[in-house]
Amino acid sequence: MANKKILQDKNSYGKPRPWRQKKLENLRYAEYLSILLYKKAHKVQGCADVLRFRKLPDGSTKLYQTWFCKSRLCPLCNWRRSLKNSSQLTKILAEAHRQHSTARFIFLTLTEENSVDGVDLKRRLKVLTHAFFKLVHYKKVSKNLLGFVRSTEITTNANGSYHQHLHVLLFVKSAYFKGTGNYLSQADWTNLWQKALKSSYKPIVNVEAVRVNKSKGKSSLLASAQETAKYQVKSADYMT
Ligand SMILES: [Zn+2]
Repeated sequence: MANKKILQDKNSYGKPRPWRQKKLENLRYAEYLSILLYKKAHKVQGCADVLRFRKLPDGSTKLYQTWFCKSRLCPLCNWRRSLKNSSQLTKILAEAHRQHSTARFIFLTLTEENSVDGVDLKRRLKVLTHAFFKLVHYKKVSKNLLGFVRSTEITTNANGSYHQHLHVLLFVKSAYFKGTGNYLSQADWTNLWQKALKSSYKPIVNVEAVRVNKSKGKSSLLASAQETAKYQVKSADYMT
């Protein structure tokens, strides 16, 4: 093996892809599964064990054969899934922008109080989804809304509670930014979200208009697409 060259898989920016780190996390996950006597431990352990790449005419390499375990919490599979989701979403957003060139994207983060435990989390996620559908059907929102992408993110806190929240990319008519009858401020969004959630407190809402064109490096549309399409559960959160 001494004179064998180690292959490096790089992304389009020339940055090495984190195969090694993800495989190490995957092996740790497989080990936990085996300690907990889960049958799928063996299957997870074999995830992306062998990678076959093809060399393209331009000198770059492309993955063309491997096997993924597709386990819901596999760090390797989640990483690949997020790459796929964000690349598909980026294409969809570019097409939406082409069809409605004057329409704008808005990145919205909707939060609520933490869930105390897993049982509470399950119930609250249902409420969250329901509240979201109420929100987008409010006249003030729906009249300028062309479409949206929603993703749920769950992070864990040190005390074992969960922080569930929604990342939403809204696609709105340009009229949204014209006049007080159309535009919704952060306070307006907060009030609407509180109404949809039927909460007694003011939930934290973040709203940002997204720039489509590149300014410095990555466009903020691409960044928002990636934020919306990223893993729903970060492996660092449940691997401890
Ligand atoms: Zn896997």
